[in-house]
Amino acid sequence: MKKLLLACLSFTFTPLAASDPPNLAHWTSQELKSLSERLPSQMDEGKRAVEEMARFGTHRVLMVYRESSAPAAAHEHTDFYLIQGGEGKLVLGGEVVDPKPKTPTEVWGTSIRGGKAIQVKAGDIINIPPNAAHQILLEPGQNITYLVVNVPIP
Ligand SMILES: [Zn+2]
Repeated sequence: MKKLLLACLSFTFTPLAASDPPNLAHWTSQELKSLSERLPSQMDEGKRAVEEMARFGTHRVLMVYRESSAPAAAHEHTDFYLIQGGEGKLVLGGEVVDPKPKTPTEVWGTSIRGGKAIQVKAGDIINIPPNAAHQILLEPGQNITYLVVNVPIP
Protein backbone atom coordinates (compact mmCIF):
# COMPACT_ATOMS: atom_id res chain seq x y z
CA MET A 1 0.00 0.00 0.00
CA LYS A 2 2.84 2.36 0.95
CA LYS A 3 4.59 1.53 -2.30
CA LEU A 4 1.44 2.24 -4.29
CA LEU A 5 0.99 5.60 -2.55
CA LEU A 6 4.59 6.60 -3.33
CA ALA A 7 4.14 5.57 -6.92
CA CYS A 8 1.01 7.69 -7.17
CA LEU A 9 2.72 10.68 -5.63
CA SER A 10 5.69 10.55 -7.94
CA PHE A 11 3.42 10.05 -10.90
CA THR A 12 1.35 13.04 -9.86
CA PHE A 13 4.15 15.48 -9.06
CA THR A 14 7.20 14.59 -11.13
CA PRO A 15 5.73 15.17 -14.59
CA LEU A 16 4.27 18.49 -13.43
CA ALA A 17 7.61 19.71 -12.09
CA ALA A 18 9.40 18.58 -15.23
CA SER A 19 6.98 20.51 -17.44
CA ASP A 20 7.02 23.74 -15.42
CA PRO A 21 8.40 26.66 -17.41
CA PRO A 22 11.50 28.23 -15.83
CA ASN A 23 10.73 30.91 -13.22
CA LEU A 24 7.13 29.83 -12.76
CA ALA A 25 6.22 30.86 -9.22
CA HIS A 26 3.13 30.90 -7.06
CA TRP A 27 2.72 32.23 -3.53
CA THR A 28 -0.54 31.46 -1.81
CA SER A 29 -2.26 34.12 0.27
CA GLN A 30 -1.41 31.98 3.33
CA GLU A 31 2.30 32.02 2.42
CA LEU A 32 2.21 35.81 2.01
CA LYS A 33 0.40 36.14 5.33
CA SER A 34 2.98 33.95 7.08
CA LEU A 35 5.85 35.99 5.65
CA SER A 36 4.13 39.25 6.66
CA GLU A 37 3.71 37.94 10.20
CA ARG A 38 7.34 36.82 10.45
CA LEU A 39 8.97 40.06 9.20
CA PRO A 40 8.42 42.25 12.30
CA SER A 41 10.72 39.93 14.29
CA GLN A 42 13.48 40.53 11.70
CA MET A 43 13.52 44.35 11.91
CA ASP A 44 16.88 46.12 11.91
CA GLU A 45 17.83 49.25 13.92
CA GLY A 46 16.13 51.31 11.22
CA LYS A 47 12.85 49.58 12.15
CA ARG A 48 12.46 47.80 8.83
CA ALA A 49 12.78 44.27 7.55
CA VAL A 50 13.27 43.21 3.93
CA GLU A 51 13.11 39.71 2.52
CA GLU A 52 13.91 38.90 -1.09
CA MET A 53 11.25 36.39 -2.15
CA ALA A 54 12.52 35.70 -5.66
CA ARG A 55 14.96 36.89 -8.27
CA PHE A 56 14.08 36.20 -11.88
CA GLY A 57 15.97 37.17 -15.02
CA THR A 58 14.00 40.37 -15.53
CA HIS A 59 12.83 41.39 -12.04
CA ARG A 60 12.92 40.61 -8.35
CA VAL A 61 10.26 40.37 -5.67
CA LEU A 62 10.70 41.63 -2.11
CA MET A 63 8.52 41.86 0.97
CA VAL A 64 9.16 44.91 3.14
CA TYR A 65 7.90 45.68 6.64
CA ARG A 66 8.38 49.13 8.18
CA GLU A 67 7.66 50.83 11.46
CA SER A 68 9.58 53.92 10.36
CA SER A 69 9.51 56.26 7.38
CA ALA A 70 11.67 55.37 4.38
CA PRO A 71 14.32 57.66 2.93
CA ALA A 72 13.28 59.71 -0.10
CA ALA A 73 14.52 57.86 -3.17
CA ALA A 74 14.72 58.04 -6.94
CA HIS A 75 16.23 55.34 -9.16
CA GLU A 76 16.43 54.03 -12.68
CA HIS A 77 14.29 50.94 -12.08
CA THR A 78 10.52 50.71 -11.68
CA ASP A 79 9.01 49.87 -8.29
CA PHE A 80 5.64 48.12 -8.26
CA TYR A 81 4.13 48.12 -4.75
CA LEU A 82 1.31 45.88 -3.55
CA ILE A 83 0.38 46.92 -0.03
CA GLN A 84 -0.21 43.83 2.12
CA GLY A 85 -0.95 45.33 5.51
CA GLY A 86 -0.96 48.50 7.57
CA GLU A 87 -1.07 52.00 6.13
CA GLY A 88 0.92 55.16 5.62
CA LYS A 89 1.51 58.13 3.39
CA LEU A 90 3.33 57.77 0.08
CA VAL A 91 4.82 60.91 -1.47
CA LEU A 92 5.29 60.65 -5.24
CA GLY A 93 6.90 62.90 -7.84
CA GLY A 94 8.63 66.20 -7.25
CA GLU A 95 12.32 66.09 -6.41
CA VAL A 96 14.50 64.45 -3.79
CA VAL A 97 15.92 67.00 -1.32
CA ASP A 98 19.66 66.77 -0.60
CA PRO A 99 20.17 63.74 -2.91
CA LYS A 100 23.16 61.49 -2.22
CA PRO A 101 24.17 58.56 -4.44
CA LYS A 102 23.13 55.27 -2.86
CA THR A 103 24.19 53.20 -5.87
CA PRO A 104 25.22 54.24 -9.41
CA THR A 105 21.53 54.14 -10.41
CA GLU A 106 19.85 55.43 -7.22
CA VAL A 107 19.84 58.51 -4.98
CA TRP A 108 18.52 58.84 -1.44
CA GLY A 109 17.62 62.09 0.26
CA THR A 110 15.96 63.52 3.34
CA SER A 111 12.56 64.41 1.88
CA ILE A 112 10.67 65.27 -1.29
CA ARG A 113 9.92 68.79 -2.50
CA GLY A 114 6.86 69.29 -4.65
CA GLY A 115 5.56 65.72 -4.55
CA LYS A 116 1.99 64.51 -4.23
CA ALA A 117 1.09 62.76 -0.95
CA ILE A 118 -1.42 59.92 -1.05
CA GLN A 119 -2.71 57.71 1.76
CA VAL A 120 -2.07 54.03 1.07
CA LYS A 121 -3.35 50.93 2.84
CA ALA A 122 -3.66 47.16 2.47
CA GLY A 123 -4.96 46.23 -0.97
CA ASP A 124 -3.59 49.30 -2.75
CA ILE A 125 -1.24 48.93 -5.73
CA ILE A 126 1.18 51.63 -6.86
CA ASN A 127 3.44 51.79 -9.92
CA ILE A 128 6.45 54.05 -9.42
CA PRO A 129 8.09 54.69 -12.78
CA PRO A 130 11.84 55.09 -13.34
CA ASN A 131 13.39 58.23 -11.79
CA ALA A 132 10.21 59.28 -9.98
CA ALA A 133 10.89 60.50 -6.44
CA HIS A 134 9.07 58.47 -3.79
CA GLN A 135 8.99 58.17 -0.01
CA ILE A 136 6.86 56.28 2.49
CA LEU A 137 6.07 58.39 5.57
CA LEU A 138 4.72 56.78 8.72
CA GLU A 139 3.29 58.43 11.81
CA PRO A 140 4.48 57.10 15.18
CA GLY A 141 2.67 53.81 15.86
CA GLN A 142 1.96 53.12 12.19
CA ASN A 143 3.40 50.19 10.26
CA ILE A 144 3.16 49.02 6.68
CA THR A 145 3.90 45.77 4.86
CA TYR A 146 4.31 45.84 1.11
CA LEU A 147 5.41 43.57 -1.64
CA VAL A 148 7.79 45.26 -4.10
CA VAL A 149 8.59 44.19 -7.64
CA ASN A 150 11.79 45.85 -8.95
CA VAL A 151 11.98 45.95 -12.76
CA PRO A 152 14.71 45.48 -13.81
CA ILE A 153 16.77 44.22 -10.89
CA PRO A 154 18.82 47.19 -9.62
ZN1 LIG B 1 12.17 52.63 -4.74
